[in-house]
Amino acid sequence: MKAAVLTESGKIVIDENYPTPRPEENEILVKVAACGVCHTDLHYIDHGVPTFKKPPVILGHEASGVVAGDGNSFKEGDRVLLPPVFTCGKCKFCLSGRENICRNMVMPGNSIDGAFAQYIKVPEKDVIAMPDEISLEEGCIIADAVSTPYHAVVNRAKVRPEERVIVFGCGGVGINVVQIAALSGVQVIACDINNDKLQLAKELGAALTVNPNETNLKEFLKQNGGPVDVAFEVIGKPETIEAAFKTLGKAGRLCVVGYTNQNITINPAKIMFYEQEIFGSIGCRPDDFPGILELVRDKKINLDKLIANKYKLDDINLAFDELRASSVLRNIIIPA
Ligand SMILES: [Zn+2]
Ligand SMILES: [Zn+2]
Repeated sequence: MKAAVLTESGKIVIDENYPTPRPEENEILVKVAACGVCHTDLHYIDHGVPTFKKPPVILGHEASGVVAGDGNSFKEGDRVLLPPVFTCGKCKFCLSGRENICRNMVMPGNSIDGAFAQYIKVPEKDVIAMPDEISLEEGCIIADAVSTPYHAVVNRAKVRPEERVIVFGCGGVGINVVQIAALSGVQVIACDINNDKLQLAKELGAALTVNPNETNLKEFLKQNGGPVDVAFEVIGKPETIEAAFKTLGKAGRLCVVGYTNQNITINPAKIMFYEQEIFGSIGCRPDDFPGILELVRDKKINLDKLIANKYKLDDINLAFDELRASSVLRNIIIPA
């Protein structure tokens, strides 16, 4: 099969003759329809973050597709969504409903070959059926760029309608933190240094927008209701995590969704006096997908404007270049 492979030298190259995966017991083969291009992939390609499977490895963890051979509960031709991690179902986190931090999680495009390829094999128990009303191209956006924000807003931050929320970073994931938070009735302030992204955030439910390169954030908050109840950091930079923390008021919560391995400096006095909380959020739980699919099917979550460009496998490096330039929200790869 044709696949885009991350080589030892950190390049993505097209291999026309990569072995087509052979499903083993309890696995099914899926013909990939679409796979989202994500910042996580760039960490492996550009930033020296090692993949668990040593290169050559196929990246891609935001996939939808069509089942390419009967399984137990899925039949050939079924339209499916693949979650970005496969879980063991047995560890203490899986057993307590926190499968997204499973001890033995397997991530396609990291621990095993992913979906920037014509085919991928997956554990059948992890596969999610896609409603007919949702296109497979939209499906791949749901896999990570919608499910991660959903978990952050609903399960982790547990935002309540009377609260005020600020979202730092309105890229492919952050924009969906904005729209899912707005959906739950809270007042959302979108914060980004790109005015086009702020405009889209407004269209998707942000009540207020602020560009900290143009407006002093502290002054802005002072004039717009004061400190917030919840801040989401969806960039992954120490300075924006620190800035996000500073926007919190009493009982404020900082939810870190962006990835960085750099240290942050935070004065803990407010955490104690104001009973503030700082916590992380990663991925989502399998149980979240039915609710997410329903929101997309009912057009409560709008995905029309989120897919930027569609590329063939051969042009995958162009898709990555655009992501590097931060010029697009979500490019997707159509391997067919
Ligand atoms: Zn991703
Ligand atoms: Zn587990």
